[in-house]
Amino acid sequence: MIDVINLKKSFGETEVLKDISVTINKGDIVVVLGPSGSGKSTFLRCLNCMEDPTGGSIIFNGVDIADIKVDINIHRRHMGMVFQHFNLFNNKTVIQNIMLAPVYVKCQELRKNKRKNIKIRIKNLFSKQKEELIPITTSKAEIQKEAKEQAMNLLKRIGLEDKADVYPSTLSGGQKQRVAIVRSLAMNPDVILFDEPTSALDPEMVGEVLDLMKALAKEGMTMIIVTHEMGFAKEVANRILFMDEGYILESGSPKEFFEHPKSDRAKEFLSKVL
Ligand code: ADP
Ligand code: MG
Repeated sequence: MIDVINLKKSFGETEVLKDISVTINKGDIVVVLGPSGSGKSTFLRCLNCMEDPTGGSIIFNGVDIADIKVDINIHRRHMGMVFQHFNLFNNKTVIQNIMLAPVYVKCQELRKNKRKNIKIRIKNLFSKQKEELIPITTSKAEIQKEAKEQAMNLLKRIGLEDKADVYPSTLSGGQKQRVAIVRSLAMNPDVILFDEPTSALDPEMVGEVLDLMKALAKEGMTMIIVTHEMGFAKEVANRILFMDEGYILESGSPKEFFEHPKSDRAKEFLSKVL
């Protein structure tokens, strides 16, 4: 699904990602480990086109999204991202947060098709060969209605349907993060990237977020997760990437990594976190 080839990223003189190559397959649960400052967040941000790579390619569904000529918005829609600090819109209600992106994207699509039809009509006036109009089967109101139903179903799934109309500031950290996760699901992504999704939570709320992530993993969602939750990594990941100073030093099964780390850096890291 994603082929990262010789990915490099520098900020000015600072080389943060030095040479990253990795393949992510459909259904993979990849946990990215590594010391602070090793480039984990930058790696995820490059995957999601929030940073422009300085070199290399990221082939996502057959297209190089590291190429600046590519319309990244189209690809970003197929990639969810969940952040440490939730990044919910605080001036929108919970349900508005979930509906926002799907409604925006579908309304844009609708407008584009309507505009295309106007162009076709004008062209048809002057040419003998009449071009077919694009069938417009939906309206803005219908898009809104469908998105609302979907958002309610997602809230039901996490037991927060009674929170639909409140603002995020009234939620606990664990509730906020679960809302952020289902918000990313609302776009039906091919893959979800998580950057330390439980690091900002009080300890008693970590479990509810990890449980939701485990459920997604069981359903076959492809996930790339930066986390310090070693228990979760061992139990849920099918692959561990260990990053250090801008390189992937190790890539293997959790069993391989936790029981037989190869590099001294990984051994040292494990001795600190386990
Ligand atoms: P990690 O997530 O593994 O802790 P990061 O990817 O956040 O690491 O950061 C790796 C290195 O890149 C750090 O030294 C950090 O200071 C640097 N860095 C990250 N983002 C920027 C930026 N926008 N500008 C300059 N340096 C950055
Ligand atoms: Mg980070």
